Amino acid sequence: MIRDTFDRVHNYLRISLTDRCNMRCFYCMPNEHYDFSPFSKLMQGDEIEKLAKIFVTLGVNKIRLTGGEPLIRKDAADIILRLSKLPVKLTLTTNGSRVYEYIEVFKQAHINSLNISLDTLQADKFNHITRRNDFALVRENIQLLLKENFHVKVNVVVMKEFNDDEINDFIEWTRDTPIHVRFIEFMPFNGNLWTSNKVITWKQMMERIEQKYKVHRLQDEKHDTAKKYNIEGHAGTFAFITTMSTPFCGDCNRMRLTADGKMKNCLFSNSETDLLTALRNGEDIVPLIYKSVYHKAEKLGGQFEPNFENLNPEDIANRSMITIGG
Ligand code: SAM
Ligand code: SF4
Repeated sequence: MIRDTFDRVHNYLRISLTDRCNMRCFYCMPNEHYDFSPFSKLMQGDEIEKLAKIFVTLGVNKIRLTGGEPLIRKDAADIILRLSKLPVKLTLTTNGSRVYEYIEVFKQAHINSLNISLDTLQADKFNHITRRNDFALVRENIQLLLKENFHVKVNVVVMKEFNDDEINDFIEWTRDTPIHVRFIEFMPFNGNLWTSNKVITWKQMMERIEQKYKVHRLQDEKHDTAKKYNIEGHAGTFAFITTMSTPFCGDCNRMRLTADGKMKNCLFSNSETDLLTALRNGEDIVPLIYKSVYHKAEKLGGQFEPNFENLNPEDIANRSMITIGG
């Protein structure tokens, strides 16, 4: 068991497969020129498998693959199939653009639930956010997953006066479609143009929804980061990821491995532990994992407080989201 000083058991590992992406979401990638890591600096397939196995011996029972865009990595299918042999619940977060190529791989790997990012239901806004033209493709891939009986969670980063006018359009989508929409409070990362006045909190989102619908609270699962709800008679459900206004750190069980093999004990931690170099040098990485989690801060990487209104993003030392793995 990997336990921190606040007695939180850590059994969930998120592995970033790459810091590259075929989209350019402005809230995720720095605006300025950005150099992707060369392939040799990234964890190779066998190294990912070795590291994952070590985490599993320490009690990890859930692994999420993320990125960058995990499915653009050429050996993504091989990595997914290798990890599917481990005794873990395997899942992934994707921008949805390549999903159609992987349906059989997901089935073979017993992946039955995926998170797909889609921040708008309007094609022109999608192009503006992602700087790519793949709106129809992503929508088609979501339909394909539903047709193939996958559970689809749609991640929506909500930004004030940008896409907050679409909250109820997403709720309307749940009327006949069995999707689970997750509204995410906009978070600050290196170079992502975050300002506190662009955050719309879950309570503000809920007010908009309650003006139009009768909302029911659903039971959250243990360690769930989201507060779950549905609307009577709707096929789908929805939730809020409330990192900025109401952090859920008290129950945190998550650790992260960046694509270049650095362990982060929190999305907002400013320290990293280089597991890949240690692995390549033949060192024992178990003590490094324990040490990293031992130093985990109580909340938000020890970098800021939930009263984000006065937060200056320049004061947070972190990578950009695309290089951490969301
Ligand atoms: N490329 C994949 C995708 O877009 O789903 C996986 C990686 S992406 C970094 C993982 C998740 O992080 C996505 O759902 C994305 O919307 C979310 N994300 C990125 N930047 C964010 C931010 N500044 N605030 C909140 N969520 C963010
Ligand atoms: Fe790429 Fe996902 Fe980041 Fe968008 S959110 S740039 S799709 S990694």
